[in-house]
Amino acid sequence: MKFDLSGRWLPIVRRLPVSSPVADVALTFDDGPTEETTPALLDLLAAHQATATFFLSGVRVAARPDLVGAMVAAGHAVYAHGWEHIRLDRVAPDQLIADMARCEEILSRFRPTPVPYLIRLPYAGGYRNPRVHATLRRLWPQGQIAHWSGHFDDPGLAAGCATAGQVEAAAPERVRQALDRPDLPGTVLLMHELAYDIDSPVRAEVSLTLTRHILAELSQRGLRCVPMQPHAHPPAFSRWLLR
Ligand SMILES: [Zn+2]
Repeated sequence: MKFDLSGRWLPIVRRLPVSSPVADVALTFDDGPTEETTPALLDLLAAHQATATFFLSGVRVAARPDLVGAMVAAGHAVYAHGWEHIRLDRVAPDQLIADMARCEEILSRFRPTPVPYLIRLPYAGGYRNPRVHATLRRLWPQGQIAHWSGHFDDPGLAAGCATAGQVEAAAPERVRQALDRPDLPGTVLLMHELAYDIDSPVRAEVSLTLTRHILAELSQRGLRCVPMQPHAHPPAFSRWLLR
């Protein structure tokens, strides 16, 4: 017996739509907001006329909802990254929906709920799991899984550094290497604010130092940071095109 799952999958998007201006990239931040990172990140982004996309953690939003207001006021896009930062592919469907919806409920006080909704799952848990897709489709029928195509392993850098000086020494080369790729325009870049589960005294320094170098490098390469965009015509069978 054959099952047709094509109507159940949500699109998985990893780059800006091909219709985007060729000089655009999308810088995305997971796990915020935090008082240690968000105000300084907003200053850095403003200094470069850059706009970003924040996938926010509900428990941290609840602690500092004012920081969400500051993000939205500055023109950045905000979406839910779950309430608790847990693997949502390991919970019951109703809990998955409740966890995501609870986070978006607070965000919706600051801007209308976007349609299509961009979904970034904690740990990317279940992003290629048909049950997770079918469950998320109940919550956001036009949802799109917001994956990425470039990253800096900022949690790994935090885990390997003990001082701000070590972060500063490692950051420029790490950023250059990650951005030195022919398909950089259109890339969706992943960063974190105080990445979860990393035991390091320099998590905030890593978020801020890397972002400072990323923005400088992108400016130097003539690229502009824009919010991540849903795809108007998501690629069919995009799940098969993934790494
Ligand atoms: Zn996360």
